[in-house]
Amino acid sequence: MKPDRFADILKQNDVSVTTVRRAIFDALATADKPLKNGEIATLVPTVDRASVYRTLELFDRLGLTTTIVRGWTPFTELAEPFKAHHHHIACERCGTVVEIENDTLEDVLGLIAGRHDFELTKHVVELTGVCKNCRVAIS
Ligand SMILES: [Zn+2]
Ligand SMILES: [Zn+2]
Repeated sequence: MKPDRFADILKQNDVSVTTVRRAIFDALATADKPLKNGEIATLVPTVDRASVYRTLELFDRLGLTTTIVRGWTPFTELAEPFKAHHHHIACERCGTVVEIENDTLEDVLGLIAGRHDFELTKHVVELTGVCKNCRVAIS
């Protein structure tokens, strides 16, 4: 069996592993893209919304998830170590989201930070564009 890092992190923070927390974590673990809070709530219909939002706040505080903001809407997905480090490019017309893993980007960000005499510990990079399907649709 895989080591239960989810349970480990909760325990390290003196937070108990409840059915609700486990259900929400599992929902995030099976998602293939960042989700809106409302979408996460839909995936765990037995849990009331207030508990879903409280749990998401807790996960964020514990560093289990990362939140990206598109427009004014926050989207949540699992953070490292549950998901490999990556970025996204989103289509501004249809909302399609593609994950980006790019070593060159990571290296450049480190170099830029170094040039300002910083050691990079965290960064947020989100790209927006128009996908191929949408470009075909308008031409
Ligand atoms: Zn599109
Ligand atoms: Zn990165």
